[in-house]
Amino acid sequence: MAKHVVILGAGYGGIQAALETRRGLTADAAKITIVNREPFHQLITELHQPAAGRLQEKNITIPLDKLLSGKRIGVCLGEVASIQLDKRTVALADGSELKYDILVVALGSESEYFGIEGLKENSFVLKSVHDATRIRSHIEDCIERYKVTEDPADLTFAVGGAGLTGIELIGELADMIPIFCKKHGVDPKNVKLLSVEAMPTILPGFPESLTDRAKASLSARGVEFLTGVPLVKMEPDQATLKDGRIIQTHTMIWTGGVRGHSVVQNSGLEVEPRGRARINDSLQAEGHPEVFVIGDSALLLNKETGRPYPPTAQLAGQMGIHCGQQIYSLLKGGELEPFTPHTQGTLASLGRKDAIGMVGERRLEVTGKPAAWLKEGSKLRYLTQIGGLFARA
Ligand SMILES: Cc1cc2nc3c(=O)[nH]c(=O)nc-3n(C[C@H](O)[C@H](O)[C@H](O)COP(=O)(O)OP(=O)(O)OC[C@H]3O[C@@H](n4cnc5c(N)ncnc54)[C@H](O)[C@@H]3O)c2cc1C
Repeated sequence: MAKHVVILGAGYGGIQAALETRRGLTADAAKITIVNREPFHQLITELHQPAAGRLQEKNITIPLDKLLSGKRIGVCLGEVASIQLDKRTVALADGSELKYDILVVALGSESEYFGIEGLKENSFVLKSVHDATRIRSHIEDCIERYKVTEDPADLTFAVGGAGLTGIELIGELADMIPIFCKKHGVDPKNVKLLSVEAMPTILPGFPESLTDRAKASLSARGVEFLTGVPLVKMEPDQATLKDGRIIQTHTMIWTGGVRGHSVVQNSGLEVEPRGRARINDSLQAEGHPEVFVIGDSALLLNKETGRPYPPTAQLAGQMGIHCGQQIYSLLKGGELEPFTPHTQGTLASLGRKDAIGMVGERRLEVTGKPAAWLKEGSKLRYLTQIGGLFARA
């Protein structure tokens, strides 16, 4: 009888896991179901663009029915509420249940607020197209309101966290906010765009030559860096920094950290303090060979440094493909193989026309338009790989 492979999450890891599992198994061997809360696959790495108003949401979403049409992968739309490891079932928020033989958990991550007072209640996050829409309309509202109030807090926009997400977002805002200002008859010179970061540097993992280049590019477009000073309190109209500085603002977009998904934390799977599942070399959850955990939901340690790999779409996709291969090995009685990540480099967009990055095994540094083209190229390569190039909404 066909085994039921249930994949939770249709993000970078889940989609690749579904496609690869299906590639290696006939319909007689496995029935594959992917569960997702939205009816589309989101290009999360592009979210900064709709958040700042450059692209529309439909440009970065791919309907799952189009993407998976004719591929023997069933789609179940719903919110995963919990996993019952003992019964091998997944409960959805609507009360329904799915029984699995093999489970792939690819639910991504949630924001980490590090216990900062008021931050969760008084900040925006950027984790979905819905968040992007919320941010864009809030920014336009602030600019429009400023015309009436002339309150500087309405034109002060802070991004908390200067990792990849925070920097890509602020680069995009630096390009797009002046356009919104013009549209609403507001002088863009009155805008304050702040990058707030507890660490002394931006973009961890990038060499100093590139972080200096990124800072210069963003500063030239009006971004102010408040680095080396943690945020300690967030209220609806002000942010307080550890050195006592107060920033009057109605906008804090928090990109300062991620933690494992709450469904994973509450599942009974073994998790580390940041809520990510502990997995073995073949990506199976500790003590549960029938459960694979991939992408941001899992803790993947770099054997050389002993430190976790940073959560990226690239890594999630590679884990998805490897996980699919292990599933068909498992069902065909073959040996499981350890997962080895292959770093192809990292690119960070700094707005519409600028980017920085390191490419290839030798981590060659690229900047400016060539880096921006490479970034666009990597998106197109990904879309081609999953068969999503012509499936967008
Ligand atoms: C703005 C931004 C820019 C980024 N830029 C880059 C970049 O340039 N390069 C890079 O490599 N990485 C980048 N990242 C990180 C990258 O996007 C993540 O590491 C990647 O998305 C992780 O993939 P995943 O499959 O683990 O999870 P996700 O892609 O987050 O997928 C999780 C899926 O699960 C669904 N889901 C979650 N909870 C539930 C639930 N309870 N029920 C049902 N469905 C659920 C979600 O809707 C989603 O479809 C960026 C992230 C952000 C936010």
